[in-house]
Amino acid sequence: MAKALSEQEKEYRTLRLPYPRLAESSFLSGKTEIPVITDETLYTACGTRIAFTTRAGGVSQGAYAELNLFYGVGDDPVAIEENRRMLCDALGAAREYDSLITPKQVHGNTCIEVGDIERTKRHGQDGADGVICTLCDVPVLLCSGDCVVMVLVAPTGAFAVVHAGWRGAIAHIVENGLRQLSRATGCLSSEINCYIGPHIGACCYEVDSALLQRFVSEFGDECDAGNSHLDLKAAVTCSLMRAGADRKRIANTGYCTSCQSEKFFSFRAQGGTCGRHGAFAFLRE
Ligand SMILES: [Zn+2]
Repeated sequence: MAKALSEQEKEYRTLRLPYPRLAESSFLSGKTEIPVITDETLYTACGTRIAFTTRAGGVSQGAYAELNLFYGVGDDPVAIEENRRMLCDALGAAREYDSLITPKQVHGNTCIEVGDIERTKRHGQDGADGVICTLCDVPVLLCSGDCVVMVLVAPTGAFAVVHAGWRGAIAHIVENGLRQLSRATGCLSSEINCYIGPHIGACCYEVDSALLQRFVSEFGDECDAGNSHLDLKAAVTCSLMRAGADRKRIANTGYCTSCQSEKFFSFRAQGGTCGRHGAFAFLRE
């Protein structure tokens, strides 16, 4: 006999997120304007603030100007901390700054789940490229400067933030993230909104033919953009669909970080010395 749905499960089943609608917006930290790409309708529907940042709005200088959010790239740590604080402040998470989860990104396929904050932070330092968060008031940030960053949001407001460069993508971090979020929330993968952030586009991402071939055999011909160019968006979209995503719930900012290196950090376009923009999510109580 089929098991009856619990009250909580019934409640989840009646929730439906609006389809994803990304748009440019900006938020203030003090007098500093921080432009982001966000989904306001999502925020209204379930209280989850998602944001893809740009280069603008922080205090870093030179190749890291202005809003570098990542340590270990040669920027001043004091500036990075200030940038992260300003971002949390602008997005309504000033009081939760101390709970900010920013794992050590290692181009792997591990997604950690947020539990006790201090333990999660320690766990994150062992290396993780995805964070699943079902808790309110815990901001999560992953960074990139050409790699794909994405945010997945379930109808309950729980979310995952995932970093997928080519290594992570081919190691299936995207499938892992979507499946883990589905399991953690009891929501179907097809009900989850999937937001693909700025990344190096097929227009600029030339790779060697062996790597391109690996992607084609793993994710299909759509990854081959011609002239040895790899389409990471096609690869991660294929991953999402395999893990059960609804194509209508997959949105892409449409930005190529290399073409738009004035607006975003780009490892390739900036010759390897650059800051990192971020993918941020936060579920309001
Ligand atoms: Zn491009």
